[in-house]
Amino acid sequence: MKLTELFAKDQVNLSFEVFPNKKPENLESVKAKTAKIAELKPAFMSVTYGAGGGTSQFTLEIAKNIQDNCGVPVLAHLTGVSSTKEIVAQRIEELKAAGIQNIMALRGDLTPEMEGQDRTNWAYKYAIDLICELKEKGDFCIGSGCYPEVHPEAANMLEDIRHIKEKVDAGCDFLTSQLFFDNGIFYDYLYKVREAGIAVPVIPGIMPVTNAKQMERSIQMSGSFIPRHFKALLERYGHNDAAMKQAGIAYATEQIIDLYANGVKNVHVYTMNNPDVAEKIMNNVKDLLG
Ligand code: FAD
Repeated sequence: MKLTELFAKDQVNLSFEVFPNKKPENLESVKAKTAKIAELKPAFMSVTYGAGGGTSQFTLEIAKNIQDNCGVPVLAHLTGVSSTKEIVAQRIEELKAAGIQNIMALRGDLTPEMEGQDRTNWAYKYAIDLICELKEKGDFCIGSGCYPEVHPEAANMLEDIRHIKEKVDAGCDFLTSQLFFDNGIFYDYLYKVREAGIAVPVIPGIMPVTNAKQMERSIQMSGSFIPRHFKALLERYGHNDAAMKQAGIAYATEQIIDLYANGVKNVHVYTMNNPDVAEKIMNNVKDLLG
């Protein structure tokens, strides 16, 4: 099923993100965890893709398992950075052969080495290059990323939103946001996006923070603002794994319920491959769905 069909329905959805294993020997354990998450019957599941190539080979296998053996629609991520036209063409054919209809087209995170490189001859400088290629080579439903707190490389919010509009005009059917901990930031962003003439669904990405280490990494990557009440929770429970998990799930649940209550129909949860966290979140909101 194309996700555009799902988003066109007048219903409230919860979806989950998982990531592939880095080492081949962990494939079966990741498959088992993601299948367990799929048992919760989210509206769809996305499977990330390692831009550097490390995990890219497993994205398709995990996505196919979720779709074919668990009966949950999938969104397979694909990145352009550090890739060649040949590799991307091959990946597109593999995705088609596997019957994957939904692709999240991203530029990909830059490694420290890439940041200093001359990008003139890169096959894919921006996500839009990949979106154009996917449009040309297949009949996919295409998603891409957006940044309620501005992408770190953008000069400012208006410039960033201008590039988002270009992605949508090139054929991107929906956007999923970077994680955030303050819903007010997302609502402000949505207003600006709509004002810029972007009409596609914008799906908020919510990260339940269940340990202090994960928190440090996520904030470092995303540069997200930490609201006062979330900071207090981290300070008090960050050193206690069980308490942090419970508090982190409660905080994410509150964010999700507030989003639904304010008319947002689709929320995507970064599960970090943790079936227990996914199950608790699903149980906390299940009567709000549908
Ligand atoms: P782009 O849309 O290309 O934007 C990157 C920067 O370039 C922005 O600052 C933008 O304003 C600017 N820009 C865009 N177009 C132009 C242009 N034409 N001219 C000048 N500047 C331009 N990374 C992975 O490696 N694997 C994943 O699976 C993955 N999944 C993600 C899922 C979500 C929901 C999100 C939000 C991010 C994900 N990422 C993933 C991270 C993402 O790859 C990084 O955030 C990356 O830095 C930007 O990717 P993008 O596709 O948004 O880039």
